[in-house]
Amino acid sequence: MSYVKGLFCRECGREYPAEPLNVCDFCFGPLEVTYDYPAISRDISREEISKGPLSIWRYHHLLPADASNRIDLNAGFTPLIRSKNLARSLGLEELYLKNDSVNPTFSFKDRVVAVASTKALEFGFDTLACASTGNLAGSVAAHAARAGMRAFVFIPADLEYGKILGAAIYGPTVIAVDGSYDQVNRLCSELSDTYKWAFVNINMRPYYSEGSKTLGFEVAEQLGWRAPDNCVVPVASGSLFTKIWKGMREFSSLGLIGPVKTRMFAAQAMGCAPVVTAFDSHIFDIRPVRPNTVAKSLAIGNPADGYYALKVLEESKGYAWAVPEEEIVQGIKDLAEMEGIFTEPAGGVVVSALRHLVKSGRIKPSETTVAFITGNGYKTQEVVADVAKPVLIKPTIASFEEAVSVRR
Ligand SMILES: *Cc1c(COP(=O)(O)O)cnc(C)c1O
Ligand SMILES: [Zn+2]
Repeated sequence: MSYVKGLFCRECGREYPAEPLNVCDFCFGPLEVTYDYPAISRDISREEISKGPLSIWRYHHLLPADASNRIDLNAGFTPLIRSKNLARSLGLEELYLKNDSVNPTFSFKDRVVAVASTKALEFGFDTLACASTGNLAGSVAAHAARAGMRAFVFIPADLEYGKILGAAIYGPTVIAVDGSYDQVNRLCSELSDTYKWAFVNINMRPYYSEGSKTLGFEVAEQLGWRAPDNCVVPVASGSLFTKIWKGMREFSSLGLIGPVKTRMFAAQAMGCAPVVTAFDSHIFDIRPVRPNTVAKSLAIGNPADGYYALKVLEESKGYAWAVPEEEIVQGIKDLAEMEGIFTEPAGGVVVSALRHLVKSGRIKPSETTVAFITGNGYKTQEVVADVAKPVLIKPTIASFEEAVSVRR
């Protein structure tokens, strides 16, 4: 069973039934899921959660789909790793890396798609679709394959090869649009008016976005039922950023953890930083930009949840930082060389932003900090191709010693 009561408009508060809707008919505000919290409060406990599966579905009370019919590739419950070398290099006493790059399709998008695809089947859809910056396409295609659904995934034509392959392998129809993500998204919005498909991040968006709360739940549980002092999160549409916050706050209001004093830090790439720019100018109107960044999974120039991300920044007393393009690959290499985790540019953005936030004193050495690593480096091999230069030798000791002089 699910504890969903319905949907409500985030702007005017008008209520709607739990249907495949995403905008308010009256004010065009975005819709969000409402739950029967008193009933959840009766049924949920640390013990109940601990008995659940090692996946996002252990938090089923706070998800808007019926867990008994779930489309399950085992998304979530990824490692929270205590950093040693990166922490030391930054001067941090307690840094954790939430390694979501080891999800079934190698990004955090499996959390949102697991929920959206389960809900889509509940609604009776036979086709899953999405507008993707890369990772979403792979996750939608994989979950559709698992569910026996048809899939159409729409991507900007200039994506990395690994992201295209990582979707195509599951057998969807991959549509590469000659345009930016924002144009892909607009096209899909128009298509969703006429095609009766479940576009996971458009008409299914209220359900889809709830899946990201599980990152907040998990981090709190894995820290021993407490919220961290700081979260450093990559921002594209802003949905993930707002939902990590929402997840921790829900846990707190249900008494599963204490008060949340977490500061939320938003990380973007300088080549696409509309949220950071608005934050710096102290305005809540996001001015859309034309993305030009190596961090393609974050290349959303007109972020749907940007306004709400700014609200969370304000409420949590957080901060937003844009990483110079030339520091992104260095962030990827730092994480790989210091912690043995190979991430994509979104992770490089987070690591480089973290470095800046510590240097500038916004994150203090004694605080508990979690950096969210949301995608896997094997999909974006192009950006670090310069390191793939092995020492070539003949199969002899002489050739080895000629090429490499090292201590025996
Ligand atoms: C989609 C994505 C994000 C950001 O997600 P939003 O919810 O749109 O802000 C971050 N990292 C990776 C790797 C992604 O694929
Ligand atoms: Zn409204």
